[in-house]
Amino acid sequence: VLIATDLAKTFPDERGGLNIFNHINIRADAGESVAIIGPSGAGKSTLLSILAGLDEPSEGTIELLGQPLTGLDEASRAELRANHISFVFQSFQLLPELSALDNVQLALEIQGHPNPAQQAGYWLDRVGLSHRHQHTPARLSGGEQQRVAIARAFATEPSLLFADEPTGNLDEKTGTEIIEQLFELNRQLNTTLILITHDASLAQRCQRRLYLHNGTLQEQ
Ligand code: ATP
Ligand code: MG
Repeated sequence: VLIATDLAKTFPDERGGLNIFNHINIRADAGESVAIIGPSGAGKSTLLSILAGLDEPSEGTIELLGQPLTGLDEASRAELRANHISFVFQSFQLLPELSALDNVQLALEIQGHPNPAQQAGYWLDRVGLSHRHQHTPARLSGGEQQRVAIARAFATEPSLLFADEPTGNLDEKTGTEIIEQLFELNRQLNTTLILITHDASLAQRCQRRLYLHNGTLQEQ
């Protein structure tokens, strides 16, 4: 599903550039679950943004579903993202002025789904929020907000789901529930999961663990 070859990233700065990593190779197949682990500042979030097409690598190529992601113009990348990729952030990133239902529905409208309202309601029900459709994020708990984000992520039935510390802002019990939900949907939809986590038990649940440190990536 995803093949990343020889990725490097350097951020521009006054002193000729801040190099984050080099020669990164990743391959993830359909339905696989992959954890990216490593110390703070290692570049995990930077790598995930690049793999998801939100940022460009300085070097290297990414192929997604047999299509090149690198080198695409922004409009084509956005279309590829809308149709095949979802992202779950540590800080949920829901739109504050929209209800739970509208947050999910908007992603479906962007994708051009034929029945966005009904599909959005279905996915909120699936993550246990049937009684919260009309709540804005400010009127939801952290765990509920993350469940809206997960409903939004899966509603478009992506081939790949990227998650950057999806349980980082949740208590342990809520985090465990969210993890169970992620893996249940991973099994049912055969969605490839690529997630960053500091949580050892979540990393252990994944089929593979990739360790990013000192600018290199090692399979563990
Ligand atoms: P954490 O576990 O704390 O989230 P991380 O592994 O996700 O850390 P990144 O957020 O990817 O780390 O950051 C890696 C390095 O890249 C950091 O030193 C950071 O300062 C730098 N960096 C990240 N984004 C940018 C940017 N847009 N411009 C310049 N430097 C950046
Ligand atoms: Mg990070």
